[in-house]
Amino acid sequence: MSYSIYQIIKIIGAESPNDLIRETEITQLLFDSRKISLPGGALFFALQGLRSDGHDYISNAYQKGVRYFVVNRVEEEWQTNCSDAYFFKVENTLTALQNLSIQHRKNFDLPVIAITGSNGKTIIKEWLYELMRAERNIVRSPKSYNSQIGVPLSVWQINKQHELGIFEAGISRKGEMKKLADITRPKIGLLTNIGEAHSEGFSSQEEKLQEKLKLFENCELLIYRSDNGIIDKAVHRLPNVKKLFWSTEKSANLQIISISKAEGQTTLKALYRPLAQPHKAQAIEIEAPFTDDAYLENIVHCWLLMLYWGYDNTIIAKRIKTLKTVPLRLELKAALNNCTLINDSYSNDLSSLLIALDFLEQQRGSQPATLILSDIQQSKLSSEELYRYVAELIQKKKINRLIGVGEEVSNIKKYLQNIDYRFFSTTEALKKVIPDIDFNHESILLKGARSFGFERIADLLERQAHRTILEINLNALIHNLNVFSRFLEPETKVMAMVKAAAYGSGSDEVARLLEFKQVDYLAVAYIDEGVELRQAGIHLPILVLNPEEAGFEAMLRHQLEPEIYGFDILDKLLKYLERYLSGYTLPIHLNLNTGMNRLGFEIDDLAKLGQVLQANNNLKINSIFSHLAASDETGHDEFTLQQIEQFKQMYEQLVEGLSYRPMRHILNSAGICRFPEHQMDMVRLGIGLYGIGATDIQEELETVSTLKATISQIKDIAKGETIGYGRIGKAERPMRIATISIGYADGYLRQLSQGKGSVVIHGKMAPTIGNVCMDMCMVDITEIPTAREGDEVIIFGKEKPVQDLAKELHTIPYEVFTNISSRVKRVYFQE
Ligand SMILES: *Cc1c(COP(=O)(O)O)cnc(C)c1O
Repeated sequence: MSYSIYQIIKIIGAESPNDLIRETEITQLLFDSRKISLPGGALFFALQGLRSDGHDYISNAYQKGVRYFVVNRVEEEWQTNCSDAYFFKVENTLTALQNLSIQHRKNFDLPVIAITGSNGKTIIKEWLYELMRAERNIVRSPKSYNSQIGVPLSVWQINKQHELGIFEAGISRKGEMKKLADITRPKIGLLTNIGEAHSEGFSSQEEKLQEKLKLFENCELLIYRSDNGIIDKAVHRLPNVKKLFWSTEKSANLQIISISKAEGQTTLKALYRPLAQPHKAQAIEIEAPFTDDAYLENIVHCWLLMLYWGYDNTIIAKRIKTLKTVPLRLELKAALNNCTLINDSYSNDLSSLLIALDFLEQQRGSQPATLILSDIQQSKLSSEELYRYVAELIQKKKINRLIGVGEEVSNIKKYLQNIDYRFFSTTEALKKVIPDIDFNHESILLKGARSFGFERIADLLERQAHRTILEINLNALIHNLNVFSRFLEPETKVMAMVKAAAYGSGSDEVARLLEFKQVDYLAVAYIDEGVELRQAGIHLPILVLNPEEAGFEAMLRHQLEPEIYGFDILDKLLKYLERYLSGYTLPIHLNLNTGMNRLGFEIDDLAKLGQVLQANNNLKINSIFSHLAASDETGHDEFTLQQIEQFKQMYEQLVEGLSYRPMRHILNSAGICRFPEHQMDMVRLGIGLYGIGATDIQEELETVSTLKATISQIKDIAKGETIGYGRIGKAERPMRIATISIGYADGYLRQLSQGKGSVVIHGKMAPTIGNVCMDMCMVDITEIPTAREGDEVIIFGKEKPVQDLAKELHTIPYEVFTNISSRVKRVYFQE
């Protein structure tokens, strides 16, 4: 379905431009100028975010071919530079986007299921889709599109062929849910669960729940689990909505009477009391292919909804048995021959293909890219139209090689130019030749519908994994960046510290993401680290904290900007420039010592420094900064303020003789949230990005890295036996121990031996026993009878904060992060 631009102007109540415009059909809504693939039929909404303003990217979107813009102001510059573009002015661009989707939704009377709650929204949505798609054409939210922007875009996908909509809704503050209810207009509501803690935007858990329930106010029916007191109480405030609920109690419509778990699966027995005949209980059962409680809870929600919809329990049981876990995230993994692999082999429709291609674009840097693509399923377009469109996308995203699998995807051939391609009719056929295809130093996106079983290809491409990995949650990193951004004025710049391989998380990937998220500067410790970032295709300005003379040539060649902290290094730099590069102006940064006493110029140096700078106008001072010694310790706040004051004075003295005022900055992570009034022109965000904050905001930060190992072997030990080198570990009683795949060479230090450290298995603590070895160690699992060989072991992560491990080691999280050996594979994911 498309709208003429006239219709849209009317719906969003925009001022129409004076000049008569030609009739155009609008088919796509855009708001991110970096994600514009095909500008035809596109309408760009300049949305205002916390730190970013879509209006700043209008020229960029214009250059990419977009001509229609919804804005809240029109700047003269656009009118001159984008003379054939049209600007539709509204008061609030987000409201305009939402109103457009509200109007769109009104054109269709298909039933909608709306899902909200703290966890499980996306999984339930995907499962309901799998369970019911055989009977009806379903439209659903792409990935986890559940925000004030995501929901309108999800609803915008509805067309005439759709018979059922399944949308998820998520909120972060009061007042948001009413909007999402207006946009989705659900008939059936499903409330997953309400997490323990209330989040930032709400004063209490009740308040959050009340807000969530607004989604259901006009529903016919609400499905929920009733054995949580607060939910059960709250839903009664929806008097006009029928309730259908489950629990272990007799009053429930679906009463769970037994749950028995065995190897990888769970049998659930229940009594079902339909709304129409509440006194006629029917005994039914299903077998779920999972044992995890959270998964089982999600399955019961689906079960009850299908029963209500009139499905026979034998069909439900049969389909539930085939459910698979839903990969909610795109993972980036190291693959053979220095390649990286993005494995997205769960579904392959247009919207998820677009998302995956964007992720590829963001992560590949300057590397070539191969797309392995199956037939595309579930599209309203004809095969011709579909593959012409996908071909355009592939060219636009500069994919270098396409490997197609399936009967239909080869239709794309006739639309491709200057790109390598090969086609296979089945996954098996591709699998046979994988070893002969020369994958090398490139990014590979594996994108296939589930029925193609692309896992078989992923297994061949992934580098044989060391079974110990550091998982990096890129969404959490962005969340943390946003938490710190809240303290900043819109014009304050952010320098992200990615020294020491981004505090151990891997600098290339983290830097790429930060560049994509438009931080202003990066900082590394050494020239080599900066060179590596340039080679990975990073264009942001990069500060080098410890430039060494031997690296000057590389530093200049890669446009890295040195920190100058003393006369010796300044002198060397000037001599170098004089000798090799006359006429070149080098940007530098000056470090002033105000009490850290590590690096930096002293007060007494300023007069002389001023003279040298004035005499050498081939140095351009981009910034002047100082570093706080104890910004996270209240006991030293007076000293911190003194440092800040001294820095300001030294800065003024130094710039007196300059004809310009370089940027000033002094705050690190803890400083940003504790002394935001001193943010000046820029801040230097380090450990906060990686999830560690001053106590005030620790709760709001999300865990970025999780260090995981696996259980290699389990042994029963008789009383009196000893465990490991030196026979230090003694079994005082019969014990079960697990040997796990991490040792001091991975960064799990020997200091953690003999119970000084502990790891998490199946949610329980398992202390070390005996000495930690080089590549493994032993832990006591006597109290964890469910543990099996091959199971996951958490060294630190959400279940065990890195701060706890740091305490066991008598150190700080910084040291734990940077001690993780480079042989531990880093795996990145993004939801
Ligand atoms: C590492 C570093 C930072 C960042 O400190 P965090 O405490 O990690 O935020 C800031 N400035 C300088 C000079 C640094 O070396």
